[in-house]
Amino acid sequence: EEVEKVIKKLVRPVKGFPNPDFVFGDITPLLADARAFGMVIDALVARYSRVDGLTAIASPEARGFFFGPAVAKALGVGFLPIRKMNQLPAETHRSEMVKMDYGERCMELHAGLLPSGGKGTVVIVDDILATGGSAIACAGILEQLGMTVHEVAAVFDYSDGASVLTGRSVLKDKGYSVFALAR
Ligand code: 5GP
Repeated sequence: EEVEKVIKKLVRPVKGFPNPDFVFGDITPLLADARAFGMVIDALVARYSRVDGLTAIASPEARGFFFGPAVAKALGVGFLPIRKMNQLPAETHRSEMVKMDYGERCMELHAGLLPSGGKGTVVIVDDILATGGSAIACAGILEQLGMTVHEVAAVFDYSDGASVLTGRSVLKDKGYSVFALAR
């Protein structure tokens, strides 16, 4: 069975969450299915197994954390957790304020995590791509550090160019390569 079909079957649309005119893609059935979760991780690992100089996988809080670390482990690279502001205890690098579907905020990454001092190539992995705000915030921090963003990867691309969900085109306009296992 194709990974895209499996994702579409197991990401459950929940109408009216977190507000009345939103359809939330619930990934928990996908996480709970061992075979489906394995297919998703394997597909991302296969795609990034030959990236020259890959140094790390980075994901935004919170649901990117379900996927990024598994991909990083399989590829033998580190994982960079990028969190919503004011969650990290030590010195951080901060993104600009970016608009996301739940309002405006910035994201943070602890400083000094990379032995290379920040050079290298990184793939951003998230669950669902909507406005692209999270990915743009992550990319901004990583580039501040001097890293090259190889690609922005989502399990499911919800952006359709309609309403505010324009993530794919916004990211492409900014010069990022965008990949999704399902759309
Ligand atoms: P964006 O920043 O592209 O607007 O939205 C993507 C971020 O918000 C992702 O980190 C994702 O976890 C979360 N998000 C936005 N909409 C949904 C949704 O419908 N379902 C899930 N699971 N996450 C969403």
